[in-house]
Amino acid sequence: MIVCKFGGSSVASSSQIIKVKKILDDNPNRRIIVVSAPGKRDKDDEKITDLLYECNALVRRGESCKSMFKRIADRYLQIAYELGLDQKPIELVLDDIRYRIDAGSGKDYTASRGEYLSAFIISQYLKWEFVDAEDSIIIKQDGTVNPVTYDRLKMIFEDRRKRYVIPGFYGSGEDHMIKTFTRGGSDITGSVVARAVGADLYENWTDVSGMFSADPRIIPSAKVIDTLSYKEVRELSEFGATVFHEEAIAPIQSAEIPVNIRNTNRPEDSGTMIVPSSEEKKLAGVAATGGLSRLSLRRLMLFKGQGTRHALLTMLHIFGVRPVYSLYGVDSVSWFFDSKSASASVLESMCQRLKSEYFLDEAYVESGYAILGLVGSNIDESDAYLTAASALRKNGIDIRFINYGASDVSVTYGIKESDKEKAVKVVYDALFK
Ligand code: ASP
Repeated sequence: MIVCKFGGSSVASSSQIIKVKKILDDNPNRRIIVVSAPGKRDKDDEKITDLLYECNALVRRGESCKSMFKRIADRYLQIAYELGLDQKPIELVLDDIRYRIDAGSGKDYTASRGEYLSAFIISQYLKWEFVDAEDSIIIKQDGTVNPVTYDRLKMIFEDRRKRYVIPGFYGSGEDHMIKTFTRGGSDITGSVVARAVGADLYENWTDVSGMFSADPRIIPSAKVIDTLSYKEVRELSEFGATVFHEEAIAPIQSAEIPVNIRNTNRPEDSGTMIVPSSEEKKLAGVAATGGLSRLSLRRLMLFKGQGTRHALLTMLHIFGVRPVYSLYGVDSVSWFFDSKSASASVLESMCQRLKSEYFLDEAYVESGYAILGLVGSNIDESDAYLTAASALRKNGIDIRFINYGASDVSVTYGIKESDKEKAVKVVYDALFK
């Protein structure tokens, strides 16, 4: 059996949903589909989920979401009309949702309605059974799935003669209130469902023909990677390749379910297969992502006293700063962290506190850092990491750190944010062309 997930662009309009139906009609093994909320129809369009978050923000400010919600309602009604569905029951559901949002049902409930309505309409169009994720998927406080979910879903999808539509992105929290995954979380729902029913394959349908060896907006000639291991996908996502949600591997990992990234607009393309592990030793791709800041601390004999590292990290934690890369010197340390994790004034007071409590000579934060990652199953056996480093140097790109050896399928270069695109280009030219 195949579980399919259709992303926002695949359900953005009636014409996209007609393509979805064709894909499903082509293979009766595609028995369960997970759907996202309608995404953008073109680059200037709005995502339903973003509009829903705006509705919630209005309500929190004490205003009604009525006119904002009308944009959402119109979009669903247009889809329903163009698919030849009766609009009346959909209008009733829309009214009820608008009322609940205005009554203060909260952020997660509001955001989840994008997927709920999408699944509701698509199930009517396909004449497949609608299953609500609210009753079946239990999401723990930390965003992972409570294992009872798997038994529940298994029972719900038991009837092998039936075909089902389930909304992605949300479930219930352990407090029985609606809870969403992080943004793009319908990929996680797809994995959870695939694992629960022991799917042979999880097809993830999107608007690109797979994962590319480099971002095609930077390298238009970059090729689709035909096979990647779970590990390589996790690493590429970490470096900013966003095709498959980075948390979506965990549910399928132990069941070893393969994932096929496919393009709804080009179903003839075979896409990228993501497999538990791959024997083939090769380079997979290069990607870069920015938004990092660097905290630098220095003092003679900084680490002489016992437990200093631990104490410093605890202090960072108090200020909401979680380091993702560390560089230790004999009397200094640099920690790289997500720039969004704290405001400039919070960082300023953190530095002052560190300085006074640890008698530091230096404690400062600089923003504008990025990481470039080179991913491949042969990283630990080839000299690709040297070729990439020398290409970066030759092209005037400063390497602020190299993280080699922590992972057997990737190497990370710390660079400046302003060099990000150029860095991807030069590494791609040196290794993939
Ligand atoms: N609609 C949600 C979002 O925009 C979830 C998803 O599309 O997977 O993040």
